[in-house]
Amino acid sequence: MSTANPQPTCPICGDSIAKAPTPSERWDLQCECDRCGGRFGYSPDLLGNASFEGVRHLVSAWIRRQIESGVQRPIVPPAGATDFTLIGRWLENLKYAGFPETVSQKQDALLQAYADIVKDEIGKVIKPHLYPHLISEIAARNRDEVKALNQLLHQRNYIDFSGGENLTLKANGWNRIEEMGKATSFSDSAFVAMWFNPYTEEYRRAVTKALQHCGYKPLVVDEADFNGFIMDQVLALIRQSRFIIADFTCLPEVQEGQIVKHGVRGGVYWEAGLAFGMNKPVIHTCKDNEDCRRRLHFDVAQYRTLFWRPDELTGDIDDLTKPIANPNFAEKLAQHILGTIGKGNYTE
Ligand SMILES: [Zn+2]
Repeated sequence: MSTANPQPTCPICGDSIAKAPTPSERWDLQCECDRCGGRFGYSPDLLGNASFEGVRHLVSAWIRRQIESGVQRPIVPPAGATDFTLIGRWLENLKYAGFPETVSQKQDALLQAYADIVKDEIGKVIKPHLYPHLISEIAARNRDEVKALNQLLHQRNYIDFSGGENLTLKANGWNRIEEMGKATSFSDSAFVAMWFNPYTEEYRRAVTKALQHCGYKPLVVDEADFNGFIMDQVLALIRQSRFIIADFTCLPEVQEGQIVKHGVRGGVYWEAGLAFGMNKPVIHTCKDNEDCRRRLHFDVAQYRTLFWRPDELTGDIDDLTKPIANPNFAEKLAQHILGTIGKGNYTE
C-alpha cells in the first residue's frame, strides 16, 4: 500500500493541486490551482456558506476572470463580504455576473477559447488536458461538461477529433469565430459612464483628452437624463464601444448649502455591469479621497482603480514615449489605455 499523502484538492473547484493550501498573512488561506487560473486567497467562511456548493464552478470562473483581468491573488469572497449574509449574497449574485449560461453560449465560449489557444497556428492540434483553465474559462461545472460540449461542437461540424480528446478547429468553426468577433467589434469609440455636475466637468475634460489622444471617440451620455427613455440609447452606445470608462466617484449633492443626497451612482454600476457582461474591458476610476474610496462597492473595489485628485485634472498630454515625472490624470489614463487596450484609429 502506498504511504504517500493523498493528493490535495482545490477547495473551490475540487481539481487536484500540487500543494495543500497554506495559511497566509494577507488572507485566511492561500491556494494555487491551474483550473482556477493561478494563486488566490479564500476564507473558510465561504466554503461553509449554504449557497457555495451550487455555484462553486462560478466562484472558480470568477477567480479565473479576475486573474485574467490583471488582479494579482484575488480573494474570495472579496473584501467587504464580511458576514454570512453578505457572503451568501455575493455567491448568489455570481449567477448574474455574465458567465456563459446556456448550452449555446457555452459552446461559443469554448470555441472562442480554442481560437485563443490556436492564435494564428491554424492547423494546431489542441490537447484539452493541457489547458485545465478551459473549464473555468467557460464556467462549466466539470470536465464532463466540456467533453459533452465538444461532442456538440463536433456535431455542428466546428471541430474535428484527432486522437482521443485532441481536436482541431474546422473551417465552419473559424467562420463561427469570425461571426462572433464581428458581434464584439473592434470599434474606435469608448463609452464614458459618469455622473455629471459642475464638479465633474474637469474630470470629463481630462477623460475626453485621454481618449482622443489614444485614438478613441468619447461617447458620453449625461447621467442626469438617465431614465427609461435613453436606456436603449445607452445600451446601443455600450454595444458599439470597444471599452468603457466608469467613474464611481460619489460626491454629495448640495442644494442651497445643504447636502440633499449622497447618490449611489446606480447608473454607473449598471453600465459597467452591462459592459462587463458583454466582455468589454471596463476601466475603473474614482476620486481619491477617504469618503469616495469607502463608498466603492465591494464588488468593484477589488479591481484596479485609477484614482484622481482635482489638482491632476488639468494640463495637456506630453509625449508618452518618454518618462514623465509627475503625470497628470489624462496622461495616466492614456498610458493605461495604450497599455491594456491599445491604440484606436479615431481622429477628430
Ligand atoms: Zn481550483
